[in-house]
Amino acid sequence: HLDRIGAVDRRVHAFLHVDAAAALGAARAVDESLAAGGPPASALAGVPLALKDVFTTTDMPTTCGSRILEGWVSPYDSTVTSRLRAAGVPVLGKTNMDEFAMGSSTENSAYGPTRNPWSLDRVPGGSGGGSAAALASFEAPLAIGTDTGGSIRQPAALTGTVGVKPTYGTVSRYGLVACASSLDQGGPCGRSVLDTALLHAVVAGHDPRDSTSVDVPVAAVVEAAREGANGDLRGVRVGVVRELGGDAYAPGVLSSFQAAVAQLEALGAEVVEVSCPSFVHAIAAYYLILPSEVSSNLARFDAMRYGLRVGDDGTHSAEEVMAATRDAGFGPEVKRRIMIGTYALSAGYYDAYYGQAQKVRTLISRDFAAAYEQADVLLSPTSPSTAWPLGEKVGDPLAMYLQDLCTIPTNLAGGAAMSLPSGLSADDGLPVGLQIMAPALADERLYRVGAAYE
Ligand code: GLN
Repeated sequence: HLDRIGAVDRRVHAFLHVDAAAALGAARAVDESLAAGGPPASALAGVPLALKDVFTTTDMPTTCGSRILEGWVSPYDSTVTSRLRAAGVPVLGKTNMDEFAMGSSTENSAYGPTRNPWSLDRVPGGSGGGSAAALASFEAPLAIGTDTGGSIRQPAALTGTVGVKPTYGTVSRYGLVACASSLDQGGPCGRSVLDTALLHAVVAGHDPRDSTSVDVPVAAVVEAAREGANGDLRGVRVGVVRELGGDAYAPGVLSSFQAAVAQLEALGAEVVEVSCPSFVHAIAAYYLILPSEVSSNLARFDAMRYGLRVGDDGTHSAEEVMAATRDAGFGPEVKRRIMIGTYALSAGYYDAYYGQAQKVRTLISRDFAAAYEQADVLLSPTSPSTAWPLGEKVGDPLAMYLQDLCTIPTNLAGGAAMSLPSGLSADDGLPVGLQIMAPALADERLYRVGAAYE
């Protein structure tokens, strides 16, 4: 994989940082332990991985795709990083991302975009475009992403790979640099459902260092993936969400989705249509809740504690240094969201915007609860379109936000969801993703249905 990175990453730009020595050292430690007769540390011992550059690592920089953290090295490992190390998984390097995970194309990275391996003049999706592109270009067999509004699933869809957003609270956020804390969730990415399940089992689990971590056994995702591989979905009810389809979707995405539903039916699943009327307000609610949390979380980048410091020449006040640093260190999308969030939380507007958005969030959770009375899992396309040309939407933030139509409801409700390939679009020959959603703490259903379909 290091050779492959050397051969293609100049063009793909999936990685911000590669540490060959650390990866080889970790691989050698696995070999030595096996040679000494020890048991493998996990099913994935020795299998290398690409880590999104939003998880802290003591041996590599963590930039979150931002200038404000350029060169910063964390004094501690994230829990996900520690679990990977304990499982004997060598980390090849850190992958590119939209700055602080805000974006749907990876073009908001301060270090230049990642390109889609299927077509190098197209975006790989975002914010985790680096992790998805590393898989699609065979630079890594496994990757870790984070999903706040779709940043694992949408890049998976656009690159023909598999990505899972686990139930909120089941993968620790300790050492995951916060975007929007009530939505952020780390999760596994792979090229097959079973690979993704094996990685899910390594990184999930209770962590007392994350106050929102849930203390429940890890879902039996590997067993479910193996069971699903027998291709028998009799007794499983799959619900097609009426509000997640229609005119706004590319024809090739819709026809791929319809074929996927027909295939699930042929495997024995019972297909029902469900309605989630509040989903049409999900984007509006999310783009108030997320910026509100962002404006608060990113206040910590104050030029004193981390990374970049601009104008500290003895003639400027601390406030001037902070302002100059934030001006130089944050990109335009991050600034836009800090301003929207600060406005939405300000006195007199709180009830009208943030408070209202939280009520919509509750309605969306209720829609899910009602839908899961009729179906075991819900289905939709992952993204309304396939990969679009680089640059096409950079000047139009609203067009970019609309790409998150199908993925955001799950984050608002805290449930689980997977994107897996449903073939190539008849429009342009590019990959299309099928989204499977499951109730909170029922992540294994994604793997059963996903493995059967795959
Ligand atoms: N595209 C969404 C956004 O820009 C999702 C981001 C994410 O999941 N981190 O907010």
